Amino acid sequence: MSKKLTTREEDYSKWYNELVVKADLAENSGVRGCMVIKPYGYAIWEKMQAELDRMFKETGHENAYFPIFIPKSYFSKEASHVDGFAKECAVVTHYRLKNDEDGKVVVDEKAKLEEELIVRPTSETIIWDTYRKWIESYRDLPILVNQWANVVRWEMRTRLFLRTAEFLWQEGHTAHATEVEAIEESKQMQEVYATFAEKFMAMPVIKGSKSESERFAGALETYTIEALMQDGKALQAGTSHFLGQNFAKAFDVQFTSKEGKREHVWATSWGVSTRLMGALVMTHSDDKGLVLPPNLAPIQVVIVPIYRKDEQLDAITEKVNELTKELRAKGISVKYDKRDTHKPGWKFAEYELKGVPLRIAMGPRDLENGTLEIARRDTLEKQTIAIDETVDFVASNLKQMQDDLFNKALDYRENHISEVNSFDEFKEVLESKGGFVSAHWDGTIETEEKIKDLTKATIRCIPNDTVIEEGICVFSGKKSDRRVLFAKAY
Ligand code: AMP
Repeated sequence: MSKKLTTREEDYSKWYNELVVKADLAENSGVRGCMVIKPYGYAIWEKMQAELDRMFKETGHENAYFPIFIPKSYFSKEASHVDGFAKECAVVTHYRLKNDEDGKVVVDEKAKLEEELIVRPTSETIIWDTYRKWIESYRDLPILVNQWANVVRWEMRTRLFLRTAEFLWQEGHTAHATEVEAIEESKQMQEVYATFAEKFMAMPVIKGSKSESERFAGALETYTIEALMQDGKALQAGTSHFLGQNFAKAFDVQFTSKEGKREHVWATSWGVSTRLMGALVMTHSDDKGLVLPPNLAPIQVVIVPIYRKDEQLDAITEKVNELTKELRAKGISVKYDKRDTHKPGWKFAEYELKGVPLRIAMGPRDLENGTLEIARRDTLEKQTIAIDETVDFVASNLKQMQDDLFNKALDYRENHISEVNSFDEFKEVLESKGGFVSAHWDGTIETEEKIKDLTKATIRCIPNDTVIEEGICVFSGKKSDRRVLFAKAY
């Protein structure tokens, strides 16, 4: 298969789809909207998981697991929740197949479930049904549980990683004695997500809350982190919901307070998904392939020997083995690719495509001189350095690359937030430049919908740090007290 990609300039969407497949991250499966995550893609997801899991535990959370099936009746208990998810649910109606007279495999109508089961699109209902049994008094609170799982949402328009019918995610579900504590928890998790995105994915995000129409079904407030992709489109990268007492009321989860009163429990839920993989690709990669931030790259350094004769390879390998040991001792992941089935040039292109942060090449002349050549994936710069300096050079370059990727993405994002004061300006900026448009909005769903119909832009968030100021809505001319961020989004 040719390694050459469609360029971002030619067709951003095509570039993305080709890259995900060619870099061996994932591919479409035989099942509509569902993907196969390949080992290289899964290795990146595992690194994301490991770090997030560490951060969840550091903030006091524990992992647990709940069933994939949810009885239909659970869903109907929280009205806005069922409304929000009804259109995209997979429903299990039967539990057996049989052979008909022609030997064809068919559903056995006799094996019809009395109550249909929903394949979980999210687990609030089954978890709150369970929490009723776990919570009796204030002493049982808070419950701080996270689940790593797969969920199914029957999405009509899918795209590898960014929006799939089945996706992998984590979902935190917490229960609290007070409203204040639950709000603090949901804000804390927004903060955890933002830190992860910025420190590990090198992806700057804007923290804010969603407008009412973009809120999670059943939430009183949805806190979000929003990122900007290289084509000027926004991406919701993670959400944390303050659910009030909605689920506690629907599932009758009460506790006896310190004062001896029966009260409903306060809830939060929060999740990030394999969508983050898509965000990672779209934020940093270029026309040659993936560019991975060192903190999430499964292979941080690849070493390619350049040789003609076997003795040369043996001498290089001996040196590389020493070097590899030293690098690994510093916690750096190294791959030595001495396959004789591929030429060095082929390997260089392969590791460029796969976004390996640093590539080392070592040949016989290098050995004589005590040097090697090292190339950085993001800048494509090559440097010849002394073998003895390699470990320090690699460690500092990985760190530098992590910072540089973040700063580059931040520059791009900062250059793509435009303040506008009229609807003409709003449309003009959206068309010519894209990115976030900061505009006054009158706070109504009607205005939000009309703007969406006319421009395809949605309110991405009301930024946490938005300034309260007098203004007029760019669309309706009505009063507004703050700017919000609009963008076309994935
Ligand atoms: P939600 O439960 O709707 O707040 O979603 C939790 C997280 O999953 C958010 O970060 C979403 O961006 C992400 N997400 C929602 N739907 C999908 C999907 N179809 N594919 C991948 N990720 C999704």
